[in-house]
Amino acid sequence: MENNKNKLRCLKCGFYRPEDATNPEWQCPNCLSAYSKIEKYEQNISIFNSEREKAKVLGLTEYFFLVLLNVGLFLFSHQL
Ligand SMILES: [Zn+2]
Repeated sequence: MENNKNKLRCLKCGFYRPEDATNPEWQCPNCLSAYSKIEKYEQNISIFNSEREKAKVLGLTEYFFLVLLNVGLFLFSHQL
């Protein structure tokens, strides 16, 4: 059985990077995506999902009120 534990795995296509891969280290040899970019994307998705969970807990109206409040504060602080 092959041990893939220490191999870099592409989050996009699931391809394990072979040790003799010739393309740059940051890039998946199979789909040519950058590993770090995909990680960033996955992080954004999980942040988005956790925000959605919060929205469910608070109830949408309260959540959007909070978002509007934050946006308002942000704009206000940048006008000064
Ligand atoms: Zn890939």
